[in-house]
Amino acid sequence: MTQTLDRPGSDVESRVGAWVSSFQDALSARDVAAAVSLFADECYWRDLVSFTWNIATVEGRDEVADLLTTVLDRVDPANFAVDGEPTSADGVDEAWLTFETAAGRGTGHVRLKDGKAWTLLTTLDELKGYEENRRERRPFGTEHGANPARVTWKETREQEAEELGYTRQPEVVIIGGGQGGIALAARLRQLGVPAIVIERNERPGDSWRKRYKSLALHDPVWYDHLPYIPFPENWPVFAPKDKLGDWLEMYTRVMEINYWGSTAAESATFDEAEDRWTVTVQRDRGDGPEEVVLRPRQLVFAMGVSGKPNRPTFPGMETFRGEIQHSSEHAGPAGYEGKKIVVIGSNNSAFDICGAAWEVGADVTMVQRSSTHIIKSDTLMELGLGSLYSEQAVANGIDTRTADLVFASLPYRIMADFQRPTYDEAKVRDKEFYDKLREAGFALDFGDDDSGLFMKYLRRGSGYYIDVGAAQLVADGEVKLVNGQVQEFTETGVRLTDGTELEADLVVLATGYRSMITSVADIIGEEMAQRVGKVWGLGSDTTKDPGPWEGEQRNMWKPTQQRNLWFHGGNLHQSRHYSLYLALQLKARQEGLDTPVYKLQPSHHEE
Ligand SMILES: Cc1cc2nc3c(=O)[nH]c(=O)nc-3n(C[C@H](O)[C@H](O)[C@H](O)COP(=O)(O)OP(=O)(O)OC[C@H]3O[C@@H](n4cnc5c(N)ncnc54)[C@H](O)[C@@H]3O)c2cc1C
Repeated sequence: MTQTLDRPGSDVESRVGAWVSSFQDALSARDVAAAVSLFADECYWRDLVSFTWNIATVEGRDEVADLLTTVLDRVDPANFAVDGEPTSADGVDEAWLTFETAAGRGTGHVRLKDGKAWTLLTTLDELKGYEENRRERRPFGTEHGANPARVTWKETREQEAEELGYTRQPEVVIIGGGQGGIALAARLRQLGVPAIVIERNERPGDSWRKRYKSLALHDPVWYDHLPYIPFPENWPVFAPKDKLGDWLEMYTRVMEINYWGSTAAESATFDEAEDRWTVTVQRDRGDGPEEVVLRPRQLVFAMGVSGKPNRPTFPGMETFRGEIQHSSEHAGPAGYEGKKIVVIGSNNSAFDICGAAWEVGADVTMVQRSSTHIIKSDTLMELGLGSLYSEQAVANGIDTRTADLVFASLPYRIMADFQRPTYDEAKVRDKEFYDKLREAGFALDFGDDDSGLFMKYLRRGSGYYIDVGAAQLVADGEVKLVNGQVQEFTETGVRLTDGTELEADLVVLATGYRSMITSVADIIGEEMAQRVGKVWGLGSDTTKDPGPWEGEQRNMWKPTQQRNLWFHGGNLHQSRHYSLYLALQLKARQEGLDTPVYKLQPSHHEE
């Protein structure tokens, strides 16, 4: 899309200005019909907490009318105004907006077609009266003057660490201290919400350190920043996993997060009468595990969307003389130099593991069970992410927040249409590469509707490889490729359903991960897990994302069917962006604000 910046006072400015003032007038007059008339027949309004106390998208004028009829009085939107200069391209006017509600201040974004709203995004930035202590409101840090009862920052921190969870209960317990739990805890700290992060591993960053040796982030640095502390300008484009682990450890410390490492969450029950959880954890402070019972108001699971290994079982596994590892247990190929490795699966982990094994001289075979989407990393960076997340984007003045909001402004229903051109172009640009892979027998796809990587990620969280080089090994036959399904293990390897036998010293099951709710069920019990339903997916009715249409990521960052139970996670971008909205929802509840949820999502169960 070519964008033209119209001059101040130009047509686009008056078109957008007229829309915004009519919209505000209609809202102020509580005139739902007038407000709805400002939307196009095809329209989408995505709200992140500001109007709905939910993360929700309404589609079409009838749903816009329903939203407004339900919430308008209580939300009391005011001061809708254009922020910065609107732009216009291909018949679509775009503008950033600012607005206020009774509870907070927000940022908006609108796309107009023929003067009517096609897409509208409204997001809550902060709660009135509970703004973060940043910039001019930053803490003083010390107390000037003389005070015999002076307590230092260190003493205060140590006292907090001793008390919280024992003599004083946290408002929020976050189970899972990967980057998701850490980012959310950082936001809560800034909002003054006492929180404890419970993490099975010893140290922050261990969830990355424990992954296979060759892993580096698949997404580039511009996409990966954490809230508050962006990576420095000399940070590598693709952070190696252990370096990221160290960053998370540093971040946890300097952001003053109450992080309970070597602590496993065992069970959580909700006391309706007291409106509190009872969370039982085993905490090891160096003298062996000790049971601690926590009584938080709110419970957040951040146990990883790719947290629970999907570990299929096959007949004969017990008779196999070699080693079997799920990809999450595979440290690397050390010890398998010159030996036979069979990797079951053909997505990110499978390719990374095959590539590393080939590098040490192992004899590697990949078993492809179903088709996979592959996009070359440099192509993805240039065509897919470059306009928002790149050095060029930074030079163009697109900071991380702006990029995140642009991304958020695209409703999921039509996001595939925005994604498809990238992959159409990739097919042309990397034709030779794709042809060679197909010739090698690799089953390629670009998603059910050719919309590529990101839609696959949002819908099913699997089925792709961002190629950082290992695909060429498959195309060249350096990594052998076999298509088929494993039927059983033999003493010496695996047998596929078509009778093919593959000898192996090591079989790696790169068979992916299961929905977070499956590991959460071990803690909250099956009955509550059933009530909450599936976590992740949009309900797009594409492969592994069964309908009905939800229009948002199921159960992520928003109220669920269980009061005071929340989910957080996703990739670094999502965790950074959505942790704000989850933190604001938790803060509002801590302060006892009225938070009626518009359109609480129903639960769904199919994985
Ligand atoms: C091989 C691989 C490569 C990836 N590459 C990228 C990438 O390049 N960019 C990207 O953004 N994402 C990537 N991801 C996705 C990745 O999973 C997430 O970005 C990130 O790890 C998610 O963070 P999280 O905090 O949500 O979950 P996790 O990092 O999985 O953390 C969950 C934590 O919960 C803890 N936990 C679980 N159960 C309990 C319990 N009962 N008690 C206490 N603690 C518990 C676990 O120990 C773990 O530390 C990759 C994933 C994998 C598997």
